[in-house]
Amino acid sequence: MVSEKIVTRFPPSPTGYLHIGGARTALFNWLFARKAHGKFILRIEDTDRERSTEEATKAIVDSLKWLGLDWDEGPYFQSDRYHIYRDFIDRLLASGKAYYCHCTSEELEKRRELAKAKGLKPKYDGKCRDLGLGPGPNAVVRLKSPPSGKTAFRDLIKGPISFNNDELDDLVLWRSDQSPTYHLAVVVDDITMGLTHIIRGDDHVNNTPRQILIYQALGDPLPYYAHVPMILGPDRTRLSKRHGATSVLAYRDMGYLPHALVNALARIGWSYGDQEKFTMEELIEKFSLENVGKSAGIFNAEKLLDLNARYIRESDTLPITNALIPFLEKDGFQNLDEKQVAGAVETLKGRSKTLVDMAKAARFYFLEDFPYDPKAADKFLIPEVAAMMREIESRLENATEFTREGMESIFLAFLEEKKIKLGDIAQPLRVALTGSGVSPGLFEVMEVLGREKVLARIERALAHIAQRKKGENS
Ligand code: GLU
Repeated sequence: MVSEKIVTRFPPSPTGYLHIGGARTALFNWLFARKAHGKFILRIEDTDRERSTEEATKAIVDSLKWLGLDWDEGPYFQSDRYHIYRDFIDRLLASGKAYYCHCTSEELEKRRELAKAKGLKPKYDGKCRDLGLGPGPNAVVRLKSPPSGKTAFRDLIKGPISFNNDELDDLVLWRSDQSPTYHLAVVVDDITMGLTHIIRGDDHVNNTPRQILIYQALGDPLPYYAHVPMILGPDRTRLSKRHGATSVLAYRDMGYLPHALVNALARIGWSYGDQEKFTMEELIEKFSLENVGKSAGIFNAEKLLDLNARYIRESDTLPITNALIPFLEKDGFQNLDEKQVAGAVETLKGRSKTLVDMAKAARFYFLEDFPYDPKAADKFLIPEVAAMMREIESRLENATEFTREGMESIFLAFLEEKKIKLGDIAQPLRVALTGSGVSPGLFEVMEVLGREKVLARIERALAHIAQRKKGENS
């Protein structure tokens, strides 16, 4: 029925950002094409000139790139292709499958009202259908649809679907302002771009018989259709902002890893046993339309956050380091030492749900004059710990190995000698080194900071304590 090589497409209308639903559709098309070693096409459906914007096109392209969904052809813009659509109109007119209609919108409106009053369907009554009219200033071109019978197709997800032809209008294909209608442009593009599979949201099911009639009028073989069920929030109402961010770029900006989102998108309405986490290669290998459910898919932003945390935790340090650097730069840190960032990431990977969280938690590594959390400072940076801090400072100064293990043995010996517990010294030191009473493990932090910074921060804390003592005594 259709050519051998599988061709899919993602054809967004650039009237807004790319949302979760659109991204899921793009992903399914992409996975289906990649699995079959086929082709994935990006097409921008910008025939609605009023509502289409360049910013939206850019946001869509940026979103797809960020998600790692690359395309083999395009982006094509429908606005560049009007001459092609017109050629197809001429073909349809020449073969008698389409006709010029001169009815004005006022006339149509009047006749529709009349039909409604008589209890008939308010569809086009076919007045110009057999008049053999030519072009005219206000003429449109309509498809000569079969007046009776059925238009049916077998949806790869939903099974057999059929519509009665008497419910379908003689569709307008070409407007009097010399522009194509949406259905004509879609079908001509799908034919000329060699589409074999149309995978799209099930809000397009009702468009399908209309588009099939255009294929049939042109004498072209039909593609396969797969209509993907809609997306709901966890409360089973239609997905909206109430359920969390719906824009792909918002997730990028909130510090999500693109693959965590891809993984979550893939699982909306598609499953593979109980497996939750998939690499891109696994998704390509395992994806199939048979495993797309017939009922609505659920998108759960909270689960995505947990998944993101898991991806960060389980990822290698290098990619997280590279992903974190732009967030630190956005926070004003310049000329970062990549090795030190990697060290920080190593200590924060298990404690951060997003890159934004991580950038926030990492600040103390790169700031020398960070503020002390007042409560923690009040409790732990007190005169009673000064002597102990000085002593540990001199031991650290002379430490042969400034590593996690090295620190550990220095501290163990120190505690043993002084007959104190780790907590007695760890909290004051933690506040000295990080400004807060909560941080990654002390020895790890020291290793990442390095000797020079550790000693400087202890000095700073001692100065703070001295200052405080002065204040108390005066
Ligand atoms: N441009 C349409 C949309 O954004 C998609 C059309 C199609 O997939 O056939 O909903």
